[in-house]
Amino acid sequence: MSIPAHFLKILIILFGALCGLAPAALLAAPQPLTAGWEYRWGDLPLTVEGTPDWALAQQPEQWHAIDFPSNPSGRNGQDQVWYRVTLPAGDWQDPVLYILSIDLIVQVWLDGENIYQYGTFDKDGRGKFEGWPWHKITLPEGYENKTLYFRVFSDYTDIGLWGEVSLMDHSELILHILNSSLEALLVAGFSLLVALLALILSLLQGGRKTFTSIALFSLASSVMLLSESSASQLLVPDALMWDYLAAGSYFLLPVGLWLMLDQWLGSARPPRAISVIWKLHLVYALGALSLALTGVIGLSFTFPPFDALFLLSLFSMALITAPRMHLMTTEQQVLVLACGVFGALLVADMAVAHGFMPWVQVPVGLGLLVFILAVVIISLRHYGMTQRALQELTVTLEHQVAERTEKTEKLLQREQTRAEVLAFENQKSRFFAEVVSELQACVSLDQAFQRLAEDMPSLCSPIKGMIYRRTAFGGYERLALWGYGDSLPDLPPAIETLSHMPPPVHLLAGSIEEAEAACKNSRGLVCFSINVEFMGHGPAPECLLLVDVDSINSSGKTEGGAARLMASINLVVERIGVTLSGISLKEDLRRFSYEDALTGLKNRRYFDQLFEHEATVALRKELPLSLLLVDIDHFKQFNDTHGHEAGDAALKAFAAILESRFRGSDVVCRYGGEEFVVILPASDIAGARERAEQLREAVRKETVIFEGKDLGSLTISIGAASWPGSTNNPEKLLKLADEMLYKAKAGGRNKVEAFPDI
Ligand code: GH3
Ligand code: MG
Ligand code: MG
Repeated sequence: MSIPAHFLKILIILFGALCGLAPAALLAAPQPLTAGWEYRWGDLPLTVEGTPDWALAQQPEQWHAIDFPSNPSGRNGQDQVWYRVTLPAGDWQDPVLYILSIDLIVQVWLDGENIYQYGTFDKDGRGKFEGWPWHKITLPEGYENKTLYFRVFSDYTDIGLWGEVSLMDHSELILHILNSSLEALLVAGFSLLVALLALILSLLQGGRKTFTSIALFSLASSVMLLSESSASQLLVPDALMWDYLAAGSYFLLPVGLWLMLDQWLGSARPPRAISVIWKLHLVYALGALSLALTGVIGLSFTFPPFDALFLLSLFSMALITAPRMHLMTTEQQVLVLACGVFGALLVADMAVAHGFMPWVQVPVGLGLLVFILAVVIISLRHYGMTQRALQELTVTLEHQVAERTEKTEKLLQREQTRAEVLAFENQKSRFFAEVVSELQACVSLDQAFQRLAEDMPSLCSPIKGMIYRRTAFGGYERLALWGYGDSLPDLPPAIETLSHMPPPVHLLAGSIEEAEAACKNSRGLVCFSINVEFMGHGPAPECLLLVDVDSINSSGKTEGGAARLMASINLVVERIGVTLSGISLKEDLRRFSYEDALTGLKNRRYFDQLFEHEATVALRKELPLSLLLVDIDHFKQFNDTHGHEAGDAALKAFAAILESRFRGSDVVCRYGGEEFVVILPASDIAGARERAEQLREAVRKETVIFEGKDLGSLTISIGAASWPGSTNNPEKLLKLADEMLYKAKAGGRNKVEAFPDI
């Protein structure tokens, strides 16, 4: 029969079964053939035609009664036996004898006719294993009350019939088989489903051992139940194939079982024992099947050693796990117990199979179902828990990732802004270095402030601000204002006019924190004073830089950026202060190199340079130029009489008289000691003489007062010379004037001598 036809048949029968057992109930019930069995060891001698010698078979002393035609006592290595039974009468329309299994091959005789045969008997009445199918022996008409003979050969541990032996109607047989297989089929289907689910879960979870072992165990169970069930033969009528499948799945069952326990027991499992046991079973399964398939041994012989091994491994597992029960969780205990129940059922089944117990259908399938259910429920619970934990973990991780991303983004943004601020600061500091070097090149404070007024807007931009310079009258004047465009800031009058030092934020040096605090606490403008040090005086707030706090804050961008800018401005201000102080110092020094420190008059160096210049101008413009050389008479004596300090005071007083007498284009210089020289541009010798006389007279009349004491008056002698009146070479004027002075001294002092003498 083709396989699709078998399917169709099974479907129809299943449909019948589902519709209820009503059709079966109409037929006569199956009748187990349990009484009247007899056996006889050894084969019956065969006649020349090859049929048993029935005459011998009739000898009653050779036959012994037996409860069930299986494994009669006194086998003694015999592999041939005959069984016989008298068939009862019944109401069957198409009677068949159903036998669940026979060890190993059989011939069935009725009325001297061979009505059924399974396996091949050789001439010695022997044969080989050809599988354990169920048997359907069709009974011919008139079978009632006749003796049915079974010629059996078996070199297996068991010999004879096994399981159910019943008489029934042919039409009832399939239903009967399905009924008896229903439980096994349902459990097999369920197991297969579990196996598939576990396999999918195992693949989804990257081959997790828990699900892999469940898949293996369930698959093995499913195949075992299906191939061992009588219904399998309806599907594919190949008994040997089903037996191989049954053997393979049965042998692999403990592999899955122990692997599963190994997973579930966790730390409560005995060290290495389980691993050794499942590997042993795997080796056995592969070895036994290979040997059977290659024909080295019969398949039936692989079962007893396996049963022994399985029994041993079940027993050792019981011994190993029992003392550890108290260490296990409830789930683990439930699993071990379920496994124990299943194991016990398996052992009972083995006992039945090997004839240690009378035949009963042991509910191994049910035990398996309970065990698989327990495993599945616990696995799913664990899976659910793991998924929940995973979900929670995912949520936490996502949260963490989001937090970190946010932090990183913030950090990145901060870094970017920092980089921008740094670039800004760099650019500014480069520019500032240029400004400082420009300032350093300035020769006067005036020039330096002019530069500052020009450069400060670009240096400070985009920070708005203004710069003020102190005036000679103590107030401040604005040099520049930038960043406000056309809308001038609403400055308080005090700041706009800056008639005095405003009460600003005094931010001098200090830390970033101080700068930040100043930034936060300030409103409007922050005032930085640029202090310049003048020779002989301390530092003075020569300049004020006012900057807009809001524009500092918006330029700072980063946290603390504004403070950094404040600190930078402060440094700039200090540096400018230092640079300006340097300029001021140089200016002073330069000034002092041309001035006489005591009298404040220009000194001889100045005279030399100026006289050369004036001589050139006189020649070019052809204007006269006169020179007076003045010397105080007997000044040594004055010093000796009144002291050097009084002498100094007299020199200062004399210088004051000189300055008051000669103003405008005239220049008075101290030529050295108590000698003075006066340049009179555009003055001829007559004018010069006249001015000299006036001076001499004025000095004579003036008394020297020192420390409240009248020290009397001084007299002076003056030599005068003029170009072009005295000489045609203006450079000779000094020499001529000196000669004239000498003449005046020689002439009695307190005199004016001029050349020519007019
Ligand atoms: P003569 O009438 O011939 O010019 O006599 P004299 O004493 O003025 O001339 P002499 O050259 O002998 O002396 C000049 C004196 O001037 C000597 C010095 O003590 C004094 N003298 C020069 N410079 C200073 C100064 O800066 N302070 C004071 N106190 N005395 C000075
Ligand atoms: Mg002199
Ligand atoms: Mg003198």
